[in-house]
Amino acid sequence: MIITEVSKLQTLCEEVSSVEEGEEIGAQLLKELIESKNGIGLAANQIGINKRVCVVNVKEPLVLINPKIVEKSEEQFLFPEGCLSFPGKKIRTQRHVSIVVEADNHEGQLSFSAESDDINDAFECVCVQHEIDHLGGITMFDRKFVIEPYRAPKSYGRNEKITITNGIKTKELKYKKAERFIMEDGWSILEQ
Ligand SMILES: [Zn+2]
Repeated sequence: MIITEVSKLQTLCEEVSSVEEGEEIGAQLLKELIESKNGIGLAANQIGINKRVCVVNVKEPLVLINPKIVEKSEEQFLFPEGCLSFPGKKIRTQRHVSIVVEADNHEGQLSFSAESDDINDAFECVCVQHEIDHLGGITMFDRKFVIEPYRAPKSYGRNEKITITNGIKTKELKYKKAERFIMEDGWSILEQ
């Protein structure tokens, strides 16, 4: 059973105490993932186990026990994402182009990067970030790409009364009179 309640998905997962415990959870996750048919990744808290284990199955099945992202590129990219906990929902998220991960069941570091001609590399890189996010109680909606609305600078009428300041004093006067202070003496308009 895959959990779809947001409040349960926001629970922080605890580290597992051994690789064996992690592998058992990993096996359950892979079974559930394969049964889902259309999933490419799953985190333990999505099946009600609040432990830091997740699986990714893009190029090959990958179990990550107590995973941590230890490096991430500053550069990000946009990617369409879905989640087994939110069936039918697709959103555009912002993700790091490349990451380096450490996990208790892998010696050394694992590198994932979307910078290749193989689209599966991008899917895997995004999926690893998505699943590790789950373990920290973060869903894809928290990574949603939003465009900041553009705010045009306010314009003033010639006879409109405004308040200006030079940082020490303030003056209230008509815009046409204030203009000289703003242009020549470095005064600025106080937003009201
Ligand atoms: Zn998910």
